[in-house]
Amino acid sequence: MNLILLGYPGSGKGTLAKDLSKELDMVHVSTGDILRDEMAKKTQLGQEASSYMASGRLVPDRLVMDMLKTRLGSETRGLLFDGFPRTVEQAEMLDGWFTSRGQGLDAVVFLNVAEDVVIARLGSRRTCTGCGKIYNVISAPPAKEDVCDACGKPLMTRPDDTQAVIQKRVQVYKDQTEPLLAYYRASGSFLQADGGKAPDAVTKDVMALLRAQP
Ligand code: AMP
Repeated sequence: MNLILLGYPGSGKGTLAKDLSKELDMVHVSTGDILRDEMAKKTQLGQEASSYMASGRLVPDRLVMDMLKTRLGSETRGLLFDGFPRTVEQAEMLDGWFTSRGQGLDAVVFLNVAEDVVIARLGSRRTCTGCGKIYNVISAPPAKEDVCDACGKPLMTRPDDTQAVIQKRVQVYKDQTEPLLAYYRASGSFLQADGGKAPDAVTKDVMALLRAQP
């Protein structure tokens, strides 16, 4: 099974993807995480991507697509995309890539959350520097301040979770990613869940939607 999670930054895609990939034994493909990894390793791609990411703009489609083909070329398990595709061009390239592999997309899950809710969430998000677990200092804080419950490593605020960059990312989503809703509504199995609920409830709802699929 191959799935795409769609929604605003801060809509809960990353948290849901971590749960679903465990439940369904799929590969969690977060292009944001891969790009941050490339930046940390100071690869050429990481260096090319860094100014786009720091300012909240999208990394050029061709760079993202080449990166994915390299990373996923030999992967045989189901793919769970989180944060990809982000433009219609990326969606078209993904369609072509699946076709060339004799595969396809099984479902697209859109997490519906209001804009003001995602802006508030991103401002209070903390991410574990060790395992990547996502917290919210208001609605889902760790037991011990700034320490991950799961692995004990320190939490951090992502450099692009600052107010100016959050506003830019939200605008970029509306301009470049939102058109994907129409693209996928027209092309196949489009599912929608209420991403305003608590993370466990969202996972439960999405699992039920996927099980109800023909
Ligand atoms: P995310 O972790 O998904 O919020 O992504 C963080 C940043 O990485 C974005 O603001 C973009 O700069 C970049 N990025 C992640 N995924 C993509 C993608 N599919 N296409 C272009 N840029 C991306």
